[in-house]
Amino acid sequence: MRFDRGETNRALERGEFFPYFQPLIELRTGKLLGFEVLARWQYSTDEMIAPDVFIPLAEREGWIGALTQQILQRAFTVALALPSALQLSVNVSPIQLRDQSLAKQIEAVAKAAGFSLNRVTVEITESALADNLEQARQIAEELKSLGCKLALDDFGTGYSSLRHLQYLPFDEIKVDSSFVSSMAQKRESRKIVAAVVGLGQSLGLATVAEGIETAEQAEMLMWLGCGIGQGWLFGKPVPAESLAAVIGTTRNGVATGVAFPWKNLSIGSMEGLPAQKLAQLQAVYDGAPVGLGFLDRDLRYVNLNRQLAEMGGGAVEEHLGRTVQEVVPHLFPIFEPYLRRALQGEPITGIEVTGQAIEGKGATSALASYQPAFDEAGEVVGVSVAVLDFTARKQAEEKLQQYERVVEGLEEMIVVVDRDYRYVLANRAFLDNRATTKEKLLDSWTGKFLRRWSKGSWTNASRAESSNTK
Ligand code: C2E
Ligand code: CA
Ligand code: CA
Repeated sequence: MRFDRGETNRALERGEFFPYFQPLIELRTGKLLGFEVLARWQYSTDEMIAPDVFIPLAEREGWIGALTQQILQRAFTVALALPSALQLSVNVSPIQLRDQSLAKQIEAVAKAAGFSLNRVTVEITESALADNLEQARQIAEELKSLGCKLALDDFGTGYSSLRHLQYLPFDEIKVDSSFVSSMAQKRESRKIVAAVVGLGQSLGLATVAEGIETAEQAEMLMWLGCGIGQGWLFGKPVPAESLAAVIGTTRNGVATGVAFPWKNLSIGSMEGLPAQKLAQLQAVYDGAPVGLGFLDRDLRYVNLNRQLAEMGGGAVEEHLGRTVQEVVPHLFPIFEPYLRRALQGEPITGIEVTGQAIEGKGATSALASYQPAFDEAGEVVGVSVAVLDFTARKQAEEKLQQYERVVEGLEEMIVVVDRDYRYVLANRAFLDNRATTKEKLLDSWTGKFLRRWSKGSWTNASRAESSNTK
């Protein structure tokens, strides 16, 4: 399509440029947060021209300022009638960031429409920032002081983005749709999105994912910690007339259950920053009465608690970054087959391991579980290890067995009760006297009588009670 200057001038004069509105959705709840304003040229009654065609023209020919004014004026006026909690995101062109009066212009339009700039986020594309960062910063600061929020648009497609994040007062990062559209298929895209979202969280910025078309993408993004979504899944850009219907639509939060393995872990801490999440996890790790650890694909310790380190006979620091084979070479042959199976994706629980853990410490007995850890796409990224050391209990059991052999044939009735008043041993004489069997008796509770007696509480009160219950 080619348009001459006369045609575009006339279009501006006649006011043929209109804002369309695309919903911005809180992923977790499905709540409508606001809209991004996207320009359209109503070329004829049934022909709408996309911004990719006329924005470059407007930039080249110098009427982008006038165009922006027309779009914003209309968008603000429309939005005035919307619930006041709804926000508007608007786009400015890279070259407008060379215009010292940009903030003043936006302020004037908002004032004339009576629309608060506290409800406005100005989206700036990365490429815009490359040529004159200092000037862009001045304009950005000015917009912020007017109450606008700032978003870095198309993040990841430009260059030197981290510098921009450091240099300019952004509130929001928009993850480019090119990463989102391929994230379900391409591991690289997924990792990039995860890293961008993590970066946003670390810097305290909101992250908005653009171009979400499928429920699967939405779910992945949500579990990666991305707060806000935009895309055809939630709604295409619509003209002002259709806004009432969009606002009236009830939405649910992103449906869960499609893909994600670490749901239960992340759901409670969705609001948390990564560092806080990590601290929470560390507390869970350290407080556990079992040895816990996480091994990467090469079976290196990524993390472990003190309990597990002690079972391996060392400090936590001596394990980190080293392989299981290096740290416990004598135990590795026992663990290895299970670890390999877990790396293949098989969850392995309740393996009883006995071995000579530490020189001179005698035999140890432990119950181990190996749980494969999957990433968002179902790839095994490592193995979570849980080990319950029951050496002491095992030893007690063995002693009890020896004792049992000694007392079994005695005439006297011998019975052993644990601290919870459960029978753990009874000899033949006792069983015969009670006309019962080991199967029935062991693990059952002792009667009231024995309990009271063993507490030494032959008080009047209890004697009275026991005679009552007779
Ligand atoms: P953008 O700012 O990255 O806007 C997002 C674009 O993605 C929009 O294209 C939107 O319609 C499209 N989109 C949204 N959801 C989906 C989806 O699920 N799938 C796919 N395939 N696309 C989706 P649109 O409206 O054609 O705008 C294109 C670009 O034109 C915008 O990209 C923005 O850079 C520019 N633009 C639009 N309006 C304005 C404006 O008023 N001023 C300026 N300076 N630029 C504008
Ligand atoms: Ca945008
Ligand atoms: Ca964008």
